[in-house]
Amino acid sequence: MAIGKSKTVPRIRGLNEVGRYAIGVQWADGHESIFPLRNLRNACPCNTCVAAEGNDSAESQRLLQLSRLGDSAVYLAWADGHETLYTTVQLRELCRCALCVQEPERPITGN
Ligand SMILES: [Zn+2]
Ligand SMILES: [Zn+2]
Repeated sequence: MAIGKSKTVPRIRGLNEVGRYAIGVQWADGHESIFPLRNLRNACPCNTCVAAEGNDSAESQRLLQLSRLGDSAVYLAWADGHETLYTTVQLRELCRCALCVQEPERPITGN
């Protein structure tokens, strides 16, 4: 992915669960993202998950705990006992909203 140009680390202003199957992230720059838990688990950057492709069990995609670690990392604990740590850089790259998919380098200007 070619988002390597932006030097500023995205920071999280708010974090919340959206229903049972997604989380919402409000970024300090005004952007908002919705991440389906399934995507977050499948994109888990830890060595175990990178090596083992696709864990689709229901337990593996049920969230037990969601926490911010400061404003530059997010911690997720899953019902199958797995733990995932995302830096905000990794998380922001996972955003699939229209803005991020089409123009990842364009500054977000709120209309
Ligand atoms: Zn993992
Ligand atoms: Zn986005």
